Order: sequence, then structure tokens, then C-alpha cells
Amino acid sequence: MDATPKKKTRLVKTIRVDVDKCNGCRACEVICSSFHASPRYSSSNPERSRIRVIREPLRDIYVPVYAGEYTAAECSGRDKYTIDGKAYDECAFCRASCPSRSLFKEPDSGLPLKCDMCESDPPLDEPMCVQWCLNDALVYEEHEVEVTEEDEPQTELELGVESLVDKHGLQKLMDTIARMKKKG
Ligand code: SF4
Ligand code: SF4
Repeated sequence: MDATPKKKTRLVKTIRVDVDKCNGCRACEVICSSFHASPRYSSSNPERSRIRVIREPLRDIYVPVYAGEYTAAECSGRDKYTIDGKAYDECAFCRASCPSRSLFKEPDSGLPLKCDMCESDPPLDEPMCVQWCLNDALVYEEHEVEVTEEDEPQTELELGVESLVDKHGLQKLMDTIARMKKKG
């Protein structure tokens, strides 16, 4: 039997960030948190945004950073950034939701936040942060790549469950679900 994973194509959506055009208005943070509020547009809180604008006050630089992968462990080695001769905090531009900082975590539940490219039904022509960035600092792009079934990205639900298992352990999580189910 052929065990080779099946290949198929997947549309990859990316947002190109032009830091030089960002003026730090934070409209992207506002609309992202509002679009993902439940019900939609019912509230706006940048702490819940899946894009955060990092500000370096001395040089007046703004860098939009997208929420990326969830990780249960801190990095063992870290990157350092030097831009125009200025050294930046090693975690400043990292996209991960990780245990060493509060960035990219839902403030009430602590669950990881990840940019989902504003997946919705019906689909949007462009993600909301791109639409709201009047300075064109965020540019939406699409291209197709060949992937195997194993390369499928995690859903938001899978991401949340994984972080709860890491935090509380699988047994405790299953016991809690069973208890909740009994209560109806
Ligand atoms: S909306 Fe655009 S210009 Fe404003 S902070 Fe976000 S990326 Fe920067
Ligand atoms: S693409 Fe959508 S989910 Fe991602 S940061 Fe922008 S507004 Fe938020």
C-alpha cells in the first residue's frame, strides 16, 4: 500500500507589512478585536487583537506584528534585533503566543490568539486590518502552494484545546468536560 501522503494545493494568504508606512494609528488593532468579538462588532479591545503594533518611542518606530503559532514552551535560544543601530528586546517582534509574556492571549481566558486571516462566511475580499489600514502599510497577497494532508493548519478550536491540555493536563480537562456534560 502506498503510504506517501497525498499532495494537494492550498491557497496561502499572507499580509506584507511595510513598516515605513505605519504611523501607529492602531486602527488595525481596533478592527481586528471588534471583528472577532462575539457578537461581531459588539466590543473593541486591542488586548484581544491578533495584530499588535509595537512602538519604539525613542525612534518613533511602529512595527505591526501578527499573532502566529501557539507554543507551550519558551524558546531555548532567542533572536536579537538591531534596526538602524538600535537593539530591540529579544521578544519584541515575536509572533508566538508563549508562556513568557501576555501578548497574543485572550485576556479573560488566557487562551492563545492567532491571526485567522478573518476567515468568515461569506469570505471577505481582504482581511479587516488591511481594509482599515489607510496608509497601505498592510498589503494582502495570495498564492498557491503544494501541501500534504499533514500540513493542514490547526483550527482555532484545536489551538485552544492544545493550550488547555498543556496548562491543566489531558485527564483534568476530560474530567471537567465529563462533569459539565452531566450537569447538562
Ligand atoms: S492601521 Fe496601518 S498604519 Fe495604522 S497602526 Fe495598523 S499597520 Fe500601522
Ligand atoms: S487578518 Fe484579520 S485576524 Fe489577522 S490580524 Fe488582520 S484583522 Fe486580525
